[in-house]
Amino acid sequence: MKTIGLLGGMSWESTTTYYEIINEVIKGQLGGFHSARCILFSVDFDEIEVCQSKGQWEECAKILVEAAKSLENAGADFILICTNTMHKVAPQIQAELHIPILHIADATAEELHKNKKTKVALLGTKYTMNQEFYKSKLIEHGIEVMIPEYCEIERINDIIFNELCVGKIKKESKQEVLRIIDSLSKKGAEGVILGCTELGLLIKQNDTQVQVFDTTVIHATKGALSAIEE
Ligand code: GLU
Repeated sequence: MKTIGLLGGMSWESTTTYYEIINEVIKGQLGGFHSARCILFSVDFDEIEVCQSKGQWEECAKILVEAAKSLENAGADFILICTNTMHKVAPQIQAELHIPILHIADATAEELHKNKKTKVALLGTKYTMNQEFYKSKLIEHGIEVMIPEYCEIERINDIIFNELCVGKIKKESKQEVLRIIDSLSKKGAEGVILGCTELGLLIKQNDTQVQVFDTTVIHATKGALSAIEE
């Protein structure tokens, strides 16, 4: 079995979900007492969030390059960056490593193709929804991406940072996000990408008729399966 390097803590609320899913998948595939070989580097998210909000992406990259190198030196065979947003600096991190990063948007696009979806809504932080680094990856895979209206983007971003990343799950916020999903579906979205690793803490498939693509589940599952593939 390969050793998975988890670059986590962004936020830790979702990194715990990665750990759980990865082990569930390994247990489901191998049975018995099998569990995942993995190494976690969990950063202090406050340092990252401060740099994000100031637009200091190169500072974020520096912190994550150091963390990723530690994972490599500790014996990781490949890396999962446990956040969509920080894939913004995935190219800078990859450039400093000898082991591959398994990109969250590649894993998500693969899942969309499996489900024959070509036009989907993307929900995430304002960085993920507004900037090109994430959408362009999906577009490269032939996926058409829809995003919410400006004020909805701001609201979802607030819910992510002020509630989900600090462990608050609110019913009103859930209803608001479900309304946004519904309106994007009415505009033609064939599914919705939960493109923030905390959104799955708020929205479950049972809450909506629209097909949900939870990037945490997709990425963690892909990571676990990659660790045991021949
Ligand atoms: N975990 C979130 C994501 O998937 C947001 C936190 C961050 O900004 O890294 O984008």
